[in-house]
Amino acid sequence: MPARILDGQALAARIQQQEIKPQVADFTAAHGRPPGLAIVLVGNDPASEVYVGHKLKAGQAIGFRVDLERLPATSSLSEVLALVERLNQSDVHDGILVQSPLPKAMGAGAASRVFDTVAIEKDVDGFAPASVGLMVQGRPAFVACTPAGVMELLAREHVTLAGRRAVVIGRSDIVGKPVAMLLLQRDATVTVCHSKTPNLAEVCREADILVAAVGRPGLVTKDFVKPGATVIDVGINTITDAAAASRLYPDGHKRLLKFQERGSMLVGDVHPEVAEVAGALTPVPGGIGPLTITMLMLNTLKAARARAGR
Ligand code: NAD
Repeated sequence: MPARILDGQALAARIQQQEIKPQVADFTAAHGRPPGLAIVLVGNDPASEVYVGHKLKAGQAIGFRVDLERLPATSSLSEVLALVERLNQSDVHDGILVQSPLPKAMGAGAASRVFDTVAIEKDVDGFAPASVGLMVQGRPAFVACTPAGVMELLAREHVTLAGRRAVVIGRSDIVGKPVAMLLLQRDATVTVCHSKTPNLAEVCREADILVAAVGRPGLVTKDFVKPGATVIDVGINTITDAAAASRLYPDGHKRLLKFQERGSMLVGDVHPEVAEVAGALTPVPGGIGPLTITMLMLNTLKAARARAGR
């Protein structure tokens, strides 16, 4: 039986419209202003432009104030830090998000310096070291939006975690590590794999819940997946190479035809053939991506309530 497709797009729309939107309206009525989010975009990386566009549109559609603060790619790190400091003091902004990646010219430690500077009560991205520390200890904190989106989907789809084997591929600070920690807190037995893990497929085959957060199109093939497992595909990869597209989809498949028309396509880390063995699977696009934005909105609402309550 083919895997059940876990429709993140539909779930995100439902949470945004039926749950967050009315709460935003209540907040606005009670406080005379909407919850506010500032998005800092440095430079004009095309993928970042797309992500920021989605966040702006989604937030504004459900009543948030969302301001885009742009800085040129030639900005210095001190200019970015000065902008973040100004937003830390702003009365109308409850959350601050600095879109990654920062321009390479800013240097290797730039992102950490920026995350260190965001006020913890406005850290809706959950990347500040204090937020991460609290999350690891299971104390109330802003949880990074993509890991929070993965957990929300698993909870809403009633996927049992306690006592089950979870394998996470990827150990980044923004996805792999926090997802692993959150699964552990929900009593799963968790293994984290990465680029140096030997026998990757064999380790993954032990998983009842397999999370792929790698950035390699179609890396997870059928032989990585235990029959019936729940597979969460966090990867978002743009492919423009016809050979790569043909490795994922057979001749005549509608996604391949669309690729041939457009010259590019968005795919995950999980090969589509996995649908033949998995019990449930998130699609790309339309899986974890929309939930990431939803979690950003929830974090901003939470930040607004906490600030208003002080
Ligand atoms: P990253 O490059 O920081 O980390 C990738 C991880 O994968 C590393 O820990 C690395 O060790 C591991 N890895 C690389 N090659 C491997 C291999 N061959 N086998 C096993 N492990 C390997 O990436 P990231 O920021 O964690 O993002 C991962 C993917 O998730 C990307 O495709 C990114 O675009 C996507 N992403 C999606 C969302 C969303 O909203 N859905 C949000 C963030 C990131």
